[in-house]
Amino acid sequence: MKIYDHMIIGGGVIGCSIAYRLAKEGLSVAVFDAGQAGQASMAAGGMLGAQNEFERENPLLGIALESRGMFPQLRDELLSETGIDIELRTAGLIKTAATEQDRDELQQQYYFLSKKDPSIQWLEPEEVPEIEPCMTSQTAGAIFLEKDHQVKAPLLAQAFLKAALHAGVHVYEETKALRLLIQQNRIMGIGTSIGSFHAAQVTIAAGAWSSHLLVDTDFSLPVIPVKGECLSIRLAGPAPVKTIFAVDGCYIVPKRNKEMLIGATSIPDTFDTSVTARGILSLLQRASHLLPVLSDGTIHRTWVGVRPQAADHLPVMGSHPFIEGLYICTGHYRNGILLSPITGILMKDYINGCQETHKLLTPFAPGRFSVVSGAKHTIMK
Ligand SMILES: Cc1cc2nc3c(=O)[nH]c(=O)nc-3n(C[C@H](O)[C@H](O)[C@H](O)COP(=O)(O)OP(=O)(O)OC[C@H]3O[C@@H](n4cnc5c(N)ncnc54)[C@H](O)[C@@H]3O)c2cc1C
Repeated sequence: MKIYDHMIIGGGVIGCSIAYRLAKEGLSVAVFDAGQAGQASMAAGGMLGAQNEFERENPLLGIALESRGMFPQLRDELLSETGIDIELRTAGLIKTAATEQDRDELQQQYYFLSKKDPSIQWLEPEEVPEIEPCMTSQTAGAIFLEKDHQVKAPLLAQAFLKAALHAGVHVYEETKALRLLIQQNRIMGIGTSIGSFHAAQVTIAAGAWSSHLLVDTDFSLPVIPVKGECLSIRLAGPAPVKTIFAVDGCYIVPKRNKEMLIGATSIPDTFDTSVTARGILSLLQRASHLLPVLSDGTIHRTWVGVRPQAADHLPVMGSHPFIEGLYICTGHYRNGILLSPITGILMKDYINGCQETHKLLTPFAPGRFSVVSGAKHTIMK
């Protein structure tokens, strides 16, 4: 039976970012993934929407801005450690309104964001094609967020995984965590599809599946799956360079080789991974309205991912409310790519007992959700 200092269940961007930082501190770390590492992480659009995502004050805003600012250095660090270029593109994001009601909403967001950052621009419809020539003036206005960059999410997931491996992390793919081994309210290890492993510390970073692992701990974590369908279209002619995001949530993220990533549907409470005609049709209709040149392109790929969403839409980061040594890190919902660099660092500091980080993460504590406690934990196999 193997013994580690710290074990992480889930090998997506969140699990691997934490594993990488802990291993660099000298801990012996293992990551277990039920499949190939990273589910939602491999499906994401890769937008670093630290401003796009916020319309009013939110405890996550400061953390999101800080995480976005880490990407240029992270790109260099991951490139030198792994040889993988995460394709950070710095052309910014245009958020557009389609109706007068959208325009009012967007103006409210503009007032909120521009008070903190004067670089944000309001664009009248005729100014939109001046900033992004592939777009038309058929909008009801837009804002330009020049600092909301993007990366290629599957490359980021692979780079975090490879960096973790290089730092000495043992990665067990195709290895499902089946149960937590708990004795007298203390984590002792995990039982997996290939046997048991021991560690005094375990982090559950299993994305949308995280709550399944907590059933034996009498703590119900309200994190649900939210299915998202996507497609990509290759353009032969002129192509935009900026991310285009509509107030209704449809977006186009330009990748290398004029590949336009189009996302995403939002279907709560399902782990279904089928790509539906209804989903693709609605994306195509909305995206081609935003960017008419899409109609001349060829469909390259379709796919699905499942986002982890907590009941209050905030991530869940911190200690299990009453199992010592057990940590939970999930619920990053639409922003796990954006938040992955800072999450690894914050969780490493939290696990190492940094009081400042414990304070910073208070709004995200798992214990904010109702707790049914009192059971004795003697599961040990
Ligand atoms: C369509 C779509 C578009 C998105 N776009 C963006 C975007 O533009 N920007 C952004 O910042 N974020 C975006 N996101 C959100 C982002 O992808 C997620 O928040 C992030 O990937 C979550 O990472 P994770 O590591 O928590 O989960 P995942 O990547 O899902 O990883 C969890 C892992 O846990 C494993 N696992 C589950 N159960 C077990 C078990 N019992 N034992 C072992 N392993 C287990 C799974 O196999 C999986 O690999 C998008 C998501 C989707 C679906």
